Amino acid sequence: MAVFDSVLTGGRVMDPESGTDRLANVGISDGVIGAITSETLEGHDSIDAKGLVVAPGAVDLHSHGQDDENYRVQALDGVTTALELELGVLDVDGWYGERLGNALINFGASVGHIPVRMAVMNDPGDMAPVADGAYKAASEAQIKEMQELLHRGLRSGALAIGFVLALAPAVSRWEALEMFRVAAHHGANCHVHMRGMGHKEPLTSIEGLSELIAASVTSGAPLHLDHVNSSGQHAVPELLQMIEEGRSHGVDVTTECYPYTAGMAPIEAAMFNEGWTDKFSLDYGDLEWADTGERLTASSFAEYREIGGMVIAHSMRQDLVDATVTSPLTAIASDGYLKAGKGHPRTAGTYSKVLGHYVRESRVLSLMDAIRKIALMPAQRMESLAPAFKKKGRASVGADADLMVFDPAKVIDHSTYREPTLPPEGMLHVLVNGVPVVRNGAVQEGVSPGRGIRAPGA
Ligand SMILES: [Zn+2]
Repeated sequence: MAVFDSVLTGGRVMDPESGTDRLANVGISDGVIGAITSETLEGHDSIDAKGLVVAPGAVDLHSHGQDDENYRVQALDGVTTALELELGVLDVDGWYGERLGNALINFGASVGHIPVRMAVMNDPGDMAPVADGAYKAASEAQIKEMQELLHRGLRSGALAIGFVLALAPAVSRWEALEMFRVAAHHGANCHVHMRGMGHKEPLTSIEGLSELIAASVTSGAPLHLDHVNSSGQHAVPELLQMIEEGRSHGVDVTTECYPYTAGMAPIEAAMFNEGWTDKFSLDYGDLEWADTGERLTASSFAEYREIGGMVIAHSMRQDLVDATVTSPLTAIASDGYLKAGKGHPRTAGTYSKVLGHYVRESRVLSLMDAIRKIALMPAQRMESLAPAFKKKGRASVGADADLMVFDPAKVIDHSTYREPTLPPEGMLHVLVNGVPVVRNGAVQEGVSPGRGIRAPGA
């Protein structure tokens, strides 16, 4: 009998696509699952998975922290593929090239409307536009120029087009629709942070989603709505109803959420312009300066807005976040981002929180449904443009050996707003393309098995 590169012995193998849920040995060679069987397997390396669940690793559709610091933290939470699809990038080839051969986990990106717009409008901002990229309407020629850059990105193998309409109030409805038309031309999804937020007229999240559904139907581009929990705020039930109704009429719309009641955004962004307290029913004290944990006042808000930086906004109701996490419509996506150890705890804890809190402690989600939302649903969303995803999000023979191995009786997040990088407990082993990147809860040094996942392009 063949000797595998590595073998996971005696684990409970769970695959949401086939419904497989049984004790088995898993044999891995050349980064691919070669056998799932009750027979004894031989391997050059062996990991004891007795008492543990062996499941496909998380495919994170929404990961802004695309560097080694963030990949290490995400790997400890079971993430095997981290995708920057919302903000996206301008230079797709360059972005993939920088990470090639030195990434701990798999990575990928969309071409982003915001970075493209910032380039065309000569905006000096860093992550978020601060001048014409946010506040100046584009001419017809500039819209054409943006379209050409988006075409170029998709031809280079970008996985989607990303949008953050909330960062750029000057984007006209027509401009957004013109960008959707580029996505439709390539069969690419639009991953969108909508322009509306919450339930308070005008420009509610109902209106925000209506614009996107109309653009999707008009152009033919599939729509993925980012973080329905935070964009929806109190209107989450209405948004989920709209998505369900749209899908029942054949609209290709999907969504995602993260399991936290606070969001995070750059304080200099347009969403915090005059009137935000009333608009979002929030006060200065609901904002927390990510670097220090300090709650803001009118005067510290003004000071920090001059400097710029990340602010955590405690803006959502727990019962609505719970309903969002457990809805069959939502994939789980972290929206994670850390810089020098500071940021939002979702980067380090999203997936172990779903497995530990929602599955084991609250019992509002079955383990198989949780794995489906963490791994299979996101992979399926990406696979029509990028067939590489047909081998991700699954624990089956022939699938890529991107696996998380956790103790279902212990797995739980520990990261907090004050200590956002504290690793979870019970997420014992994580494999990327068959190579252990986490073993016994520790990141393995000197391994870089992550691959850039791209669409075939044109
Ligand atoms: Zn967003």
